[in-house]
Amino acid sequence: MLNIGCHLSISGGYAQMGRTAEKIGANTFAYFTRNPRGGGKPSPDPDDMAALCTFLEEHAFKPLVAHAPYTLNLCSDKPNVREFAESTMKEDLSLLEALPGNYYNFHPGCHMRQGMDAGIHMISDALNRIMTPDSHTVMLLETMAGKGSEVGGRFEEIRAILDRLDLKDKFGVCLDTCHVFDAGYDIKGGLDSVLEMFDRSIGLSRLRAVHLNDSKNQIGSHKDRHEKIGQGNIGLEALTRVITHPSLRTLPFILETPNELDGYQSEITLLRDAFEKHSC
Ligand code: FE
Ligand code: FE
Ligand code: ZN
Repeated sequence: MLNIGCHLSISGGYAQMGRTAEKIGANTFAYFTRNPRGGGKPSPDPDDMAALCTFLEEHAFKPLVAHAPYTLNLCSDKPNVREFAESTMKEDLSLLEALPGNYYNFHPGCHMRQGMDAGIHMISDALNRIMTPDSHTVMLLETMAGKGSEVGGRFEEIRAILDRLDLKDKFGVCLDTCHVFDAGYDIKGGLDSVLEMFDRSIGLSRLRAVHLNDSKNQIGSHKDRHEKIGQGNIGLEALTRVITHPSLRTLPFILETPNELDGYQSEITLLRDAFEKHSC
C-alpha cells in the first residue's frame, strides 16, 4: 500500500488532524509544529496529543513528518536568529516526545553570504547541541532548491552536514521532488541516475520521507514554487515513477501542493490508483 498524506493545519488540535487525515484517505501527514511566521511557544493539551497517538496506532498510520517553521535559520549571519532557531527546535523536539517515533523535518538554512562551508559548520554544530541521545524523534534535513544562499541544494551539502553529526542515527533526509527538480536533478528524465547520485553522496538508507510536489518552474530554475500533482513541469508520469520506485515505494509521501482538503483528497486518490495500477 502507498503511504501518503498531506500537509494539515494544526488549528483544530492534534486529534483532529488524525481524523481529517483518515477522512481524506491518508495514512500519514505533516503539520507545522507552530505558526511558521512566528508566534510563541505552543502549549498543546497533553490529552489531545495522547488521543492522536492512540488514533495513529489504531489506524496503523505510518510515521508523521512534522515540519519546523520554515523561517528558522540555523546558519543566519545574525546570532539571535541562530539562537532562536536552535531553541525553537529544542522546544519542538521536547513537544514531540508526546508523539514518539515520528519525524521532525526542517530546512537546513541559508548561509547569507557567509559561504557554504561556514553554513554547513553552523548547522551541524547547532544540530549537535539540539539532538539528545534519548530523543524518540528522528530529524530530517530537507533537500532544497538552492534558492539564494540555501544550504542543501546539492546532495553533497547534506552529506557534509550529516558527516559532522555526533548522533548519526537520529538524523535522516527528506527528499522534496519539487526542490530537487528545481535544484537541477532530473527526476523526470533520469530518476534512476538521480537516486544513484543520492546513494553515492548521502546513502539511500538515510532517505526516510519524500515531499511529493510538482513544480511550477523548469529544471534547474532554483525557484521552489510547488504545483499540483500533474499540473507542473515534473508531471504525473514521473511522479508515479517516484512513488513506485523500488527504493522509495515504502516511504511516507507528503503532498505540499497548493490545495485545500478536497484537492488533497483527489490527489491522494489519483496517486493511490496510479500506485495500484503499477503494482498489479
Ligand atoms: Fe519544507
Ligand atoms: Fe518540502
Ligand atoms: Zn518548497
